[in-house]
Amino acid sequence: MKIMEITQFLEGIAPLSLQESYDNAGLIIGSNETECTGIITSLDVTEPVVAEAVKRNCNLIVAHHPIIFRGIKKLNGKNYVERTVIAAIKNDIAIYAIHTNLDNIAEGVNKKIAEKIALQNCKTLLPKEGTLQKLVTFSPLKNAEEVRSALFAAGAGAIGKYDECSFNVEGSGTFKANEGSHPFVGEVGTRHLEDEVRIEVIFPSFLQSKIVKSLKESHPYEEVAYYIHALENIRENVGSGLIGEMTNPVSEEELLRGLKNQFKLSVIRHTPFLNKAVKKIAVCGGAGIFLLPDAIAAGANVYITSDIKYHEFFDADNRILLADIGHFESEQFTVELLTEFLQEKYRNFAVLKTEINTNPVNYFI
Ligand SMILES: [Zn+2]
Ligand SMILES: [Zn+2]
Repeated sequence: MKIMEITQFLEGIAPLSLQESYDNAGLIIGSNETECTGIITSLDVTEPVVAEAVKRNCNLIVAHHPIIFRGIKKLNGKNYVERTVIAAIKNDIAIYAIHTNLDNIAEGVNKKIAEKIALQNCKTLLPKEGTLQKLVTFSPLKNAEEVRSALFAAGAGAIGKYDECSFNVEGSGTFKANEGSHPFVGEVGTRHLEDEVRIEVIFPSFLQSKIVKSLKESHPYEEVAYYIHALENIRENVGSGLIGEMTNPVSEEELLRGLKNQFKLSVIRHTPFLNKAVKKIAVCGGAGIFLLPDAIAAGANVYITSDIKYHEFFDADNRILLADIGHFESEQFTVELLTEFLQEKYRNFAVLKTEINTNPVNYFI
């Protein structure tokens, strides 16, 4: 199996187009054409992780955090990023990052956190705008079904738990084929009137080229008329953070104690207890303080995230219990998530979790 097969599978789950503008997800080192010998999953890529991949005979590392995040102008090994990159290239190890695109899907990083806390009825905390588009096209009556089916097969017309959604209205189209054309119906040089169906379908932006391709392949006309509109609609299951409910409300202290256990934490930094029962909880793996206003607006009793700075704790302002459980700790189960995705798909293939703890933060207790 080529590495491409694996990267395409992962991009089917978390499309690269869902990554944030500052991110660098995707195949960072290596070639898609290389035959894969095995996969190591990890949160970070460090020199020891590359060495582990070599030792365990896996030539692909699938990590959450991209090892190359900013531009690199020299590669002489003067810092850990350059040394890791050099080690990977020398040993023919490919590195793939599935980062904010995995943070931004409902089945991603935060789903795993919610699962560990046993949150129910989870929803995306801040759904992404501008990720949906609409295609309008016009097909001859008798070809409409074929065109619709092709669009559906390419992923158009999926809305929530429904698919194959479209709107269709019959009308007539006109055209005059000019010199050199080969019209499907009508004659060159004469205006033709054809009974057509106007078909409208919604689709996520990242599928645009696939959908236009399937439209052109399934449509009988030499020149296919279509419009693509950007939509303001939000996609409910794509975006940042997650909010869910506890089946049975717990006290703030019980919640933090449970977190300590489940996430193997030596410490939790948090704002003062509000002495209220905890029912609704918002979570965001990694640095998620930007979602604090959304967590408050959504009525969360507690917001669990990481990388909170001193002054940002004040912003909780007795409206919510803010808990910082550590960046690595909050995202540690992402390794499990990636391994599950890959093992389920490639049952007889080596998909191994890293045995290295890459957390650079230590707690002196
Ligand atoms: Zn993340
Ligand atoms: Zn992170």
